[in-house]
Amino acid sequence: MPKFVIQKHRSKTLHYDFRLEIGDVLKSWAVPRGPSLNPKEKRLAVEVDDHALSYMHFEGEIPQGSYGAGEVIVWDRGDYSCAGEGTAQEQYEKGSLLFELRGKKLKGGFRLLRMKWEEKPVKWLLVKQDDEHASPVDVTKTMPGSVLSMRRLD
Ligand code: MN
Repeated sequence: MPKFVIQKHRSKTLHYDFRLEIGDVLKSWAVPRGPSLNPKEKRLAVEVDDHALSYMHFEGEIPQGSYGAGEVIVWDRGDYSCAGEGTAQEQYEKGSLLFELRGKKLKGGFRLLRMKWEEKPVKWLLVKQDDEHASPVDVTKTMPGSVLSMRRLD
């Protein structure tokens, strides 16, 4: 089963780095407002550099002077499966990825939809599918901490 991780990261601004294992890398998106369980809430997800698979375990401080300096916690993680047509790689290339998450906080179907790709950085939308895991509850507020430790950023 491929894995996903969401790292909550306080650098210049607080954001959530959403990463999906696709092939031998973590495809990555920075989600300024974090994920939502509400299918009506479309969250901006800005595509950022791929990360190594080993990075999914990282929690701690990125030192001053380095790119992304600031604190990182593992906000959620688990495995996922592709729910749309074709492989995750094919869906990624087409700009419409449908998947089911099995995390501690996020469960059920989500879609990542690419808006424009002429413009860098490439912007996508992260949207919860309307299924039994959809909810109006703001999980970024009700469950702010790490799933690996007692760390919180707030
Ligand atoms: Mn980040």
